[in-house]
Amino acid sequence: MPLTAIISDIHGNKDALDAVVQDARAAGAERFLCLGDVVGYGAQPLECLDLVRQLCTIVIKGNHEVAVLRGPLGFNPLASAAIRWTRALLDARGGDDLAYLQALPERHDVPGEPAILYHGSPRHPTEEYLFREDTLDHLPRSVDYSPKLVACFQEIDRPCFIGHTHVPGVIESDMTWCSPEECEQRYDTANRPCFVNVGSVGQPRDGDRRASYALFDGRLVTFRRVRYDVEAAAERIFATPELPDLLGQRLLEGW
Ligand code: ZN
Repeated sequence: MPLTAIISDIHGNKDALDAVVQDARAAGAERFLCLGDVVGYGAQPLECLDLVRQLCTIVIKGNHEVAVLRGPLGFNPLASAAIRWTRALLDARGGDDLAYLQALPERHDVPGEPAILYHGSPRHPTEEYLFREDTLDHLPRSVDYSPKLVACFQEIDRPCFIGHTHVPGVIESDMTWCSPEECEQRYDTANRPCFVNVGSVGQPRDGDRRASYALFDGRLVTFRRVRYDVEAAAERIFATPELPDLLGQRLLEGW
């Protein structure tokens, strides 16, 4: 398959998205897939949506797309504020954005293709988080069984790409965690079942404020981190009265 850039959790951060697209093209990526959460949190949701629609061969629906459509149920106040503002922007613009978001698939699972795609997990595609803390080597001491991961692995027969937690890394078939640092940014799936989290383009939460995404050649995953103008992205949030300043602050700090 052509070298593919897999991006997720852009969250209205066009500064980060532009930097990732440039980096991926320079690395030879010939196509882009998106695992959802194009909007929410950031100051340029419409610009991100327009670019993703034009750029990506496949776009999966995330929980922030669901929230824009149905209301931010269960969201914290920061996330809710961004969703209400994003929905107002979409309503004001008119057009077919809402129909487009509604029609997005929650999964991409085609026999014969090298990977399966979800936003969150196979069991609850837009909602469930597969955390590093669910893996056997990160569970509390004396716990040695992860029924959540057992159930999720039963649903896949190939590598599966996910986002949603905003923390990149791999849940291997033995249910242990491999961070990008531990595998020196390259992970050989050997075409076996595993969950590859590509991290977040627009709001990384692992303490590294650089944008995160992955390249995939059909077997090998390369994790990428990309510097971009974080101050500019934060400043756009500070300049948007409807968005809480904390959403800009967290970009600067990477959480
Ligand atoms: Zn997200």
